[in-house]
Amino acid sequence: MQHIKLLILGSGPAGYTAAIYAGRSGLTPVIYEGLQPGGQLTTTTEVENFPGFAEGIDANELMENMRQQAIRFGADIREAMAVRSDLSASPYHLWFDDGSEAICDSLIIATGASAKYLGLADEEKYRGQGVSACATCDGFFYRKKTVAVVGGGDTACEEASYLAGLAEKVYLIVRKPYLRASQIMQDRVLNNPKIEVLFEHNTIGLYGTDGVEGAHVVYRKGETDERRYDLPIDGFFLAIGHKPNSDIFRPWVQTDETGYILTEGDSPRTGIAGVFAAGDVADPHYRQAVVAAASGAKAAIEAERYLASL
Ligand code: NDP
Repeated sequence: MQHIKLLILGSGPAGYTAAIYAGRSGLTPVIYEGLQPGGQLTTTTEVENFPGFAEGIDANELMENMRQQAIRFGADIREAMAVRSDLSASPYHLWFDDGSEAICDSLIIATGASAKYLGLADEEKYRGQGVSACATCDGFFYRKKTVAVVGGGDTACEEASYLAGLAEKVYLIVRKPYLRASQIMQDRVLNNPKIEVLFEHNTIGLYGTDGVEGAHVVYRKGETDERRYDLPIDGFFLAIGHKPNSDIFRPWVQTDETGYILTEGDSPRTGIAGVFAAGDVADPHYRQAVVAAASGAKAAIEAERYLASL
């Protein structure tokens, strides 16, 4: 079995940045790219808020640049995804979906989080063409347009308020007759004249020839007064929660109730010597590429210090 000095799981901004820093320190890190090479950012189109790109940059190009930068400093990038871990003692043991195994002295968990989707085939069909799970990433493209946000929690209210600052009209599609969000967020939404809350509504499909042009919605599904109609919109934003990709580490590292890995203060230290968590897998709050990149840098610096102390 291969014994790796520094193993990085995940190939989003956190994983690649960790690899760039570790590579420049001469650690020759091994990165396992996981299920979605390039991470969540590859589900969007253009990135306009990553510093250094005055005109914005295509999301896939940005991630490919990070990948090449990591390779330039000696990162060994592999395609497999970790499916099991044993972090009970060093060296730490990982199993991968291609049947391989590895042990490592230090581990950076940068496996990210996945936005939850409703599970409609149309979400896949229009992904990047009007369907998004990140208002901060994609809201800008809907200036003076009409959008819908799905969800009734704090994220949905926050995203709807953010989008209302850009779009002409925002529908908030809520499946229950009430919002789950905190009172202050509810008030913000309910008092915003640009936001119309559609309580007791579910989305059953999307339509449009060249991207999203509307949603098929149902009011009071299954009730005697059920009503189905088409809601014309230009953008469809999901805000029904995220799931951190931490399941395989949960027996070992501490997480919150949703599964976000808990770290010591604002450091990437997990409490297990030599095991660090970076990016969205440990960040329920910001979920931004630039924040993930910064935490990847921190994790690499910590790993370097840890390995030097062995
Ligand atoms: P939540 O789990 O709080 O809310 C998810 C929302 O999505 C709920 O309204 C839920 O409906 C709805 N939903 C879930 N599945 C579906 C579905 N299949 N169809 C339609 N609707 C669905 O997630 P959030 O991301 O909003 O928040 C996560 C945590 O982060 C919370 O603790 C929140 O308070 C916190 N947060 C805090 C912020 C702040 O303080 N500024 C900002 C953002 C998040 P239902 O209610 O019917 O279950």
